[in-house]
Amino acid sequence: MPEKVVIVGSGPAGWSAAIYAARANLNPLLIEGTARTDVQMIPLGQLAYTTEVENYPGFPFGNIRAFVESAVDQDRHYNLPPIPNHPKEKRKRNSMSDIAPHYAVQGVELMELMKQQAINFETRIVSDDVVDIDVSGPVKKVLLKNGDPVETHTIIIATGARANWLGLDSEEAYKNKGVSACAVCDGALPVFYGKPLAVVGGGDSAVEEATYLANLKGANKVYMIVRRDEFRASKIMADRAINHPKIEVLWNSTVAEVVGDENLVTGLKIKSTKDDSISDLAVGGMFVAIGHTPNTDFLSGKLQMNEAGYIQWTKPFRTNTSVVGVYAAGDVADDYYRQAITSAGTGCMAALDVERYLADEGIE
Ligand SMILES: Cc1cc2nc3c(=O)[nH]c(=O)nc-3n(C[C@H](O)[C@H](O)[C@H](O)COP(=O)(O)OP(=O)(O)OC[C@H]3O[C@@H](n4cnc5c(N)ncnc54)[C@H](O)[C@@H]3O)c2cc1C
Repeated sequence: MPEKVVIVGSGPAGWSAAIYAARANLNPLLIEGTARTDVQMIPLGQLAYTTEVENYPGFPFGNIRAFVESAVDQDRHYNLPPIPNHPKEKRKRNSMSDIAPHYAVQGVELMELMKQQAINFETRIVSDDVVDIDVSGPVKKVLLKNGDPVETHTIIIATGARANWLGLDSEEAYKNKGVSACAVCDGALPVFYGKPLAVVGGGDSAVEEATYLANLKGANKVYMIVRRDEFRASKIMADRAINHPKIEVLWNSTVAEVVGDENLVTGLKIKSTKDDSISDLAVGGMFVAIGHTPNTDFLSGKLQMNEAGYIQWTKPFRTNTSVVGVYAAGDVADDYYRQAITSAGTGCMAALDVERYLADEGIE
C-alpha cells in the first residue's frame, strides 16, 4: 500500500507538516536526511547550526532548560547544547528580566522540540537522504540513498536551502561568534549591539541586510564589502544603501580573513580587487549575504523551479507545485522570507493541502 504522505526534510517546515499530517491521521513518513559535509547539511535543518533563536514566537527569554529537557526524549539529550555563559547583567526587556537570567532557546533545542512534537503524534522517521523522485504517475516513488523506494500518494518537499559562504577557514571558525548569514535572524543579538558591522555582497539581499542592521536601535556604522565598483542590486535598492547615513560602501573589496579573539570577531582583513593590497577594518560582526542554494538537486527536471533552483508554488496562497500531489514548504520554495516561522507556516499549509487533496481523491 502506498503511503498517504511522505515528507522530505527535517527543518521547521518538515516537522510542522508532520505534526499537522499526523494529527489528521495521515500517518506521515518523514525522511530526515543525513549529515552531509559536502553541502553543509545536517538533520534538523539550518537552525541546528545556530545558537540563540530570539524571534520564534513562544520562546521568550527565561530559563527554559528544564522544560526543554523534560520535553525531549532522554536518548537525544546528548544533542542539546550546554547552557551558554551569558553576561551577568540582566536585560531589561520586560518584567521577566527581574526573575530570570537571559537564556534564549538554542537552535538545536527548538528543533528537537519540534521533532519530539511530531514523534508524540507517531510520525515515522527514516534517517536517510532522498536521491530521486518519480512523479510521472498518480502513485509517486521516493528513492532513498540506501536504494529503498517508497511509494506514496503525495509528497511534501521541505528540504530547505543553505547559505552560501565565502569559504574562508577564519569565517568557519567565527560562525556563531560574530559571523552570520542572516541579519534579520541575528542582527539584534546583544553581541552586535552598538558595534560597527560588515555586510558582504552587492545584491538586493545584501542591501536589505545592511539597511536592516543600520536601522536597528543602537546601530553603529555598517560597511558593505562589494567586490566590484557597482552594486548588482537594483537601482532603487542601491540608492537606499548609498544614501543611508550609517552605511559606507567599500567598493572593489573582498574579505581576505576574519580576525578576532578567543570569543568574538574584532575585525576583517580587506583585500582590494584592484591591487591586492590588504587593509584592516575594525568590526564586531560580519554578515555574509552572497545568496542561498536551495536543496533541490535531486529534483532536477521533475518540478518547475525558478532560475535559482527554488521550487515554484503554482497557486497563490497554496503550496501546490507543478505536479499534482506534490507540495513544497519552507525555504526550498521561498527565496524571500527565509525564516523559521514562515517555514513552519508553509509546512502547516502543505499538510492541510495534502489532507484536502487526499479527501478530494477519495484516498483513505
Ligand atoms: C546560522 C543561521 C541562523 C538562523 N537563525 C534564524 C533565526 O534566529 N530565526 C529564524 O526565524 N530563522 C533563522 N534562520 C533561518 C532558518 O533557519 C530557516 O529559514 C529555516 O530553518 C528553514 O526551514 P526549512 O524547514 O525550510 O528547511 P531547513 O531548515 O533548511 O531544513 C531542511 C532539512 O532537510 C533535510 N534535507 C535536505 N535535503 C534532503 C534530502 N535530499 N533528503 C532528505 N532530507 C533532506 C536536511 O536535513 C536539511 O537540513 C537561520 C539560518 C541560519 C543558517
